[in-house]
Amino acid sequence: MSTIRTIAAVAACKAARGILRMLHRGGTALPGKVAMKFDKEVLRTVSRGMKIIVVTGTNGKTTTCRMLEHALTRSGFPCLANKSGANLLSGVTAEFVCSADWRGRPKTEYAVVECDEGALKQVVPLLAPEVITVTNLFRDQLDRYGEVTHTLNAVKSGVEASPQTALCLNADCSLTSSIALDVPNPVFYYGLDVPVGEQKETEISDARHCIRCGTAYEYRYYTYAHLGGFCCPNCGYSRHDADVSVTQINSVSPAGSEVRMKWRGSKKDAAISLPAVFNIYNAAAAVCAFTVFSDRLKERHGITLPAESIFDALSDVESSFGRMENFDLDGVPVQMILVKNPAGCSQSISYLTQLKQDYMLAACLNDRTADGHDISWIWDADYEKLSEDPYLKQILVCGDRAEDLQLRLKYAGIPEERIELLPDFASMLGKIRTSNLPVFAMPNYTSMLELRGLLSQATGKKAFWK
Ligand SMILES: [Zn+2]
Repeated sequence: MSTIRTIAAVAACKAARGILRMLHRGGTALPGKVAMKFDKEVLRTVSRGMKIIVVTGTNGKTTTCRMLEHALTRSGFPCLANKSGANLLSGVTAEFVCSADWRGRPKTEYAVVECDEGALKQVVPLLAPEVITVTNLFRDQLDRYGEVTHTLNAVKSGVEASPQTALCLNADCSLTSSIALDVPNPVFYYGLDVPVGEQKETEISDARHCIRCGTAYEYRYYTYAHLGGFCCPNCGYSRHDADVSVTQINSVSPAGSEVRMKWRGSKKDAAISLPAVFNIYNAAAAVCAFTVFSDRLKERHGITLPAESIFDALSDVESSFGRMENFDLDGVPVQMILVKNPAGCSQSISYLTQLKQDYMLAACLNDRTADGHDISWIWDADYEKLSEDPYLKQILVCGDRAEDLQLRLKYAGIPEERIELLPDFASMLGKIRTSNLPVFAMPNYTSMLELRGLLSQATGKKAFWK
């Protein structure tokens, strides 16, 4: 039931967004803050009755959401999604309020919500989602979250706030799957049943020791970082069998991957239109979440959502903002890979080195608030692998902390003459434009915004809030 407070909150939120857009500002959180001034829990009202999937975790949230949203839409279930990346309470509130009618009644029945790990405990009680999917937990932006166990506890309290919600957890992540040990929710698992690439125990790990007893894990196989077939030899905490799993990786290229999955007890071949191993994980997460969502819609609401349609969606989902996003700059193919932490960065480097084709790398590093001011994580990322890659011909470096990144690359063993330090993003764009090789851009968050802004201007792509 809408109250005067709700109506005021909705009106104020829509007005604030309207004004921001008139000023050509993509402000995504402010309208939500304005709405909450009138009605603190307006999100509960404007999402009432909606069937919602929430996605959280350190890496892969945005892409997993995009896959789910695409699957729903192409099955004829229009849904709301916070595509702008505003994933704190204020941003999620703004998205829902602005899409409701003037009395605060939702206009769509479904939603896919990306939620920041730290904001989960505020957002989840208001949304009461059908499904929460956790992608993984890695060390990320230390000055915002502290240690990774702090993030784990934050996610756990979010889950505890909604005990009816089904959980989809990454079976290969010992941190993520430990959430199941302490919560009453129904739990489902997804993961990779097979190792990926060369096995390397020395790779960075945010979870070497058992979360329950502190003994060092043993691994049957690794996929990347601390993900894989872990087992504690002391207390027996180990990887849970996955309900949805990748059993075979058939091919990987810049255009995507082909895999075989175990799904509903049988084999299913799947094409994933987004490249790299982390997107195979995102695809498995999306398949698991979509399947569980479809089952719950049937059981609880008598609605039939064809669960198989997730596979069609994976084969033609488009990349989202800066994440494996492709540009054509006057004939030069540019693929942009957002990196924000050591695990994601090392995985992006693995992706580049296994392509085995000549390329130029454009690496960018800023240290603004949205990036986390501490950039020491670059020392934990596996840039050494680049020095062994004969196909990498040149590296352009740019951003507020370009010199730190240049130093890191030198320490990784990359010859100085192959690294070019550029004073600004416009010069970087100029260099990219005249490249005779494909370019892979590897920026962190705010440097992605800058480089992407210039690239989209030059190639005619839309700004993100449009
Ligand atoms: Zn143990």
